[in-house]
Amino acid sequence: MITLIAGGTGSVKIARGLSKTADDLIVIPNIADNIWLHGLYICPDIDTITYGLAGILDKGRGWGVKDDTFVFMEQMKKLGQDHWFRIGDKDLALHLVRTNFLNEGKSLSWVTEWIRKKLSVSTTIMPASNDHIETRVETPSGDMHIQEYWVKNRAELDISNIMYKGIESAKVNAKAVEFIKNSELIIIAPGNPISSIGPIISLPAIRKELESKKDNVIAISPLIGNKAVSGPASKYMQIMGIESSPFGIASYYRDIASNLVISEFDNEYENRIRTLGIHIYKTNIVMEQSQDEIILSNYILNIVNKA
Ligand code: GDP
Repeated sequence: MITLIAGGTGSVKIARGLSKTADDLIVIPNIADNIWLHGLYICPDIDTITYGLAGILDKGRGWGVKDDTFVFMEQMKKLGQDHWFRIGDKDLALHLVRTNFLNEGKSLSWVTEWIRKKLSVSTTIMPASNDHIETRVETPSGDMHIQEYWVKNRAELDISNIMYKGIESAKVNAKAVEFIKNSELIIIAPGNPISSIGPIISLPAIRKELESKKDNVIAISPLIGNKAVSGPASKYMQIMGIESSPFGIASYYRDIASNLVISEFDNEYENRIRTLGIHIYKTNIVMEQSQDEIILSNYILNIVNKA
């Protein structure tokens, strides 16, 4: 069994690759970007992973269903409603179904399981908690949900802190811990370490399990040099006092991962990373085509087979 700890747009690439190359894959997706909007419970990262594995993700945008229409959104705009968070019409159906199930008392993991089966996804997608956790950022205009900062305010505000609201009281999903425990390999996707991977590994029971299995944990850097392949990872890391580099990634994961895959061009960080006691693997970590996703997945699986 292989467990992938994942976010959304960057993580889905390796999730797709692994789903084609590994036999028994479990994905533990980020839940801290979940948000209530228009009375609907929206789970952006869970949906990106689900759509990606179902082969219906809009790869250009990195979210939502490909060839979706936005009639609902246009009508909401006409009616003077909030329309900063774009929801496609097919996507809307999924949010509606999920919300109905939750309102009937079903858990998030039950609903996630139901949806992935309906969309013929064979990979189990298991949220680390059924409780609501949300990543919030502190800005001069007050604190807000990370989606509000990133999408509504187009990341234009200064941030002084990033926190996971609800993490202390959230009950961990015992199945997610069990999957990690029973996995011969746990992969940390090249997701945003602060807004995607951070909330999952901050759940004490998940963290404890990863710590005890850290020799079996391998992380993939989302950064090449001091820059993220895409998105705000570098900015968020600096806000949290973490160096924006593969070394920063290594330090951030040092207690839970003994192995790190970095770019073949990042020789300059090797010595510092080794001082942390972390094994380094260097290869191409940019996944532009589906072939790149498969090659990187095979590369990681081979490391384990050789060990
Ligand atoms: P989000 O929830 O949409 O932010 O998605 P993730 O957290 O899963 O992914 C965002 C991260 O993926 C960013 O920090 C990117 O640098 C990283 N990323 C995107 N594409 C790639 C890629 O092809 N290779 C690697 N190594 N990282 C990537």
